[in-house]
Amino acid sequence: MKTQFPIAAFQNIETPFYYYDMDLLRETLATALREAAKYEGFHIHYAVKANFNPMLLAAVKEQGMGADCVSGGEVKAAINAGIPAEKVVFAGVGKTDREIAYALDAGIFCFNIESMPEVEAIERLAAERNVSAQVAIRVNPNVGAHTHANITTGLAENKFGVNYEQLDEVIDFIETCPHLKLIGLHFHIGSQILVMDDFIALCGRINELQTLLREGRGLVLPHINVGGGLGIRYDEPDEFDVPDFALYFATYAKHLLLQKGQQLHFELGRSLVAQCGTLITKVTYVKHGSCKRFAIVDAGMNDLVRPAMYGAYHKIENLTSDKECEL
Ligand SMILES: *Cc1c(COP(=O)(O)O)cnc(C)c1O
Repeated sequence: MKTQFPIAAFQNIETPFYYYDMDLLRETLATALREAAKYEGFHIHYAVKANFNPMLLAAVKEQGMGADCVSGGEVKAAINAGIPAEKVVFAGVGKTDREIAYALDAGIFCFNIESMPEVEAIERLAAERNVSAQVAIRVNPNVGAHTHANITTGLAENKFGVNYEQLDEVIDFIETCPHLKLIGLHFHIGSQILVMDDFIALCGRINELQTLLREGRGLVLPHINVGGGLGIRYDEPDEFDVPDFALYFATYAKHLLLQKGQQLHFELGRSLVAQCGTLITKVTYVKHGSCKRFAIVDAGMNDLVRPAMYGAYHKIENLTSDKECEL
């Protein structure tokens, strides 16, 4: 489905702005949900940090998806959009007391905890409120992802999650906390991942870990959360506008060994929303440099930071002229 830009309507809108193709968004969300529904116990939470625009969140809510949040503000945005608290998960290494308190009061489904001091904080705040909080341990699986170095999150050198060596200690500690209930394991190895091998490697690590926990301590947790990370095609956004969710879910269904009754959670962000958004900008000047001509536009890195931050590529199209432009 090639995006048809309503160029005539754009004439009256001040540039730069983001144009969201809501039909494509709905189609993408519906496709992901339909493909996940082919497997028992698969659940999708939209990773709100990909885009927290209320209009997009409303579409996510409308389709019945949950939300994955990495800040109190995102939890709030999800709840305000009408996403039920019992479908909200909250990860992040730096949760503050205020954010934890807000999420506890909202009654979210699960905190994905990333360190021992965070466990202490959630226990203390839950005790003050006399409520019980469900937690999953975010495990650092030491799995690399074939993506930009700045957006890998699952290597031992990354700040995210609990390392294997500390896992037993963290589980023991949670078990002594009267206001915490350990319900699962959480993983997220990075973003913009296009090779299924990385997800297969993650499945291998999870399978090993599940065996260790079952045999070592008789522990089988009801929820496994594999995070997100499925990438999109920036080079050919029109041809590959809806990512290959069928292959993605089939990969997990084939390689991840779930225990009886275990629920599998996904936190997809970019792959659900990225292709529906387009930054519309106008050429203000054509500037002759000493060896290049530059098209200077009215959008900058404040509107689209990715190219400057880590050399990300975005396809540029000229919407108002079919003429090849020699720059
Ligand atoms: C960013 C993030 C995601 C989503 O990643 P995408 O690449 O956008 O799918 C999922 N889970 C956590 C914990 C994240 O930080």
